[in-house]
Amino acid sequence: MKDILIASNNDHKFKEISAILAHIPVRLIKPSELGLILEPAENGSTYFENALLKARAFHEASGMAVLADDSGLEVEALGGEPGLHSHRFSPKSGATDHDRCLYLLSKLQGKPKPWLAAFHCHAVLYVRPDLVGDNHGSIAGEITQEFHGSNGFGYDPIFWIPQEGKTMAELDPERKNQISHRAMAFSTFKLLKNWVSGEE
Ligand code: IMP
Repeated sequence: MKDILIASNNDHKFKEISAILAHIPVRLIKPSELGLILEPAENGSTYFENALLKARAFHEASGMAVLADDSGLEVEALGGEPGLHSHRFSPKSGATDHDRCLYLLSKLQGKPKPWLAAFHCHAVLYVRPDLVGDNHGSIAGEITQEFHGSNGFGYDPIFWIPQEGKTMAELDPERKNQISHRAMAFSTFKLLKNWVSGEE
């Protein structure tokens, strides 16, 4: 079985990626299991560039095959914000996920509804410098005025998915991991599938 290091210190993400990839024969490793403390600057200009920066940094530090993702929420009425800056969106220092949702809602007040939005995720697999691949996933929805549900993380409680009739935070984790932007990016990732099965 192949080992892959996940280039993230975010436990929610690690859990989601583990669930999404549960059916493929791969052992996913957390940086903390290697005593690796690394916070590469995410100063790329696209999700892909940021995911590649993280994947390369963790590969160079560990010598392992690395899977990284970079993700964000894009809201149409805000010209695509917060996008790449989803994690650092609130001006409050030490802001929580809840603060970031409140800040987003404050920016939307007075804008016509529906507040159309989409989550995006770009995944990168960095096996070695000459074997790198990437894949994108997204899911469309709307921002809700009120918070609903307590599953997931980030902007999940205010991200409504019309075809599910629920916010992302009201979905069972199993369902989120079938339809989310992260699920789309990882589950249809050709290089990942081929490398794990020894075809690459
Ligand atoms: P990054 O991919 O670690 O740079 O994180 C981007 C940010 O986007 C997260 O900190 C969340 O605020 C938001 N985000 C990304 N994916 C999700 C998700 O699945 N649900 C809710 N928020 C998310």
